Amino acid sequence: MTASDPIERLARLRHEFGEHGGVNMSIEASTTFTVMKPGTMPELFAGRKSAPEGCYLYGRHFNPTVYHLGQQLAALEGTEAAYCAASGMAAISAAILQLCESGDHIVASNTVYGGTYALLHDFLPAKANITTTFVDISDLDAVKSAMTDQTSIVYAESIANPTLRVADIPALADIAHSSGSQLIVDNTFSPLLISPAALGADVVVHSMTKFINGASDIIAGAVCGSTEFIQGLMDLHLGPLMILGPTMDPSVASKISLRIPHLALRVREHAERAEYFARKLDEVGVKVAYPGLAHHPDHELLDRQRCEDYGFGGILTLDLGSEEKANALMDSLQNEHRFGYMAVSLGYFDTLMSCPSTSTSSEMSDEDLSTAGIGSGLVRMSVGYTGTVEQRWQQLHAALSEIGAV
Ligand code: PLP
Repeated sequence: MTASDPIERLARLRHEFGEHGGVNMSIEASTTFTVMKPGTMPELFAGRKSAPEGCYLYGRHFNPTVYHLGQQLAALEGTEAAYCAASGMAAISAAILQLCESGDHIVASNTVYGGTYALLHDFLPAKANITTTFVDISDLDAVKSAMTDQTSIVYAESIANPTLRVADIPALADIAHSSGSQLIVDNTFSPLLISPAALGADVVVHSMTKFINGASDIIAGAVCGSTEFIQGLMDLHLGPLMILGPTMDPSVASKISLRIPHLALRVREHAERAEYFARKLDEVGVKVAYPGLAHHPDHELLDRQRCEDYGFGGILTLDLGSEEKANALMDSLQNEHRFGYMAVSLGYFDTLMSCPSTSTSSEMSDEDLSTAGIGSGLVRMSVGYTGTVEQRWQQLHAALSEIGAV
């Protein structure tokens, strides 16, 4: 896998022109689709005709505009197929429910996004009799020992939210496959930077609310995998996307589709600036975690798995030691220096800062937070690209010195 593979695949995709020859595809606003002959409808419902042949059944099943975005995602991730959902959580839930039956077991990383943690830790056992063992996935022996005869999924984030620990995707895929399970990787933190499918993942999920969208104005998700798997999500009897119905709106698909062509430029700029800040913070003695720094525990692991055109990602964390100091820093950065915003989420063009222990990881128990290494003074920073990098560093340095951190 080289850095140019996804870009070349995207460029080879058949371009969808607008209805009047517009350079952008039209938005297919219909929820239902005319069939020209009465025999076509039963064929569609029996699954003998389907979307790729230009036959659409109903908007919750496949919509041409959403289908086109799915093809872009498949090209991005190098999978046979992909489809979209109304949110990252919808994509994750659908992928899991597609691979699990009641009574099944999941082995998951102990540092995942708080919503995913709640899904695995609370929701699935209570609602579907699907249980999860959380492990430190950097400890491959622990992953192996957690596998049982009922394990159908190994679940990890390529770069974990918020600890920035990196998954060893080939090793996790080997463990999963040798016991007949499948590996799902959430690649939200590292589109283009990591290509999980090329490294052995069976299913790749995204919150497209983040980097892929890039403007923090849309909630969206995607599932990428084999054609059979993606078609299965839309099965009329058991497909989680078809039956539970977290459908993406076609106008949302159109908007995101127009942002995919500049994803590479954005991801590169996020990463360059994050690395610049990480090096500067390291130099002035702030406790910073960034996989691009040689002393990050997964620096070499990420180096082996990454496409080097995209640096080491656009997110870093600072450990200020206490929630008080973390809050003081974010307050000053937002309200005094106009450096960025105190807000959850990531991949926005401006910098977003939050304290995971009291926000995006607050679903986790104190014990689980501490096992995962998510301290109360940890600030997650999704580094934006507005302003000049020198101006932003001056602001960050000034705020750090005001709170006595440098
Ligand atoms: N996966 C990761 C790694 C996330 O950080 C998030 C949200 O922050 C999600 C999934 C959920 O995405 P969404 O909010 O689009 O449902």
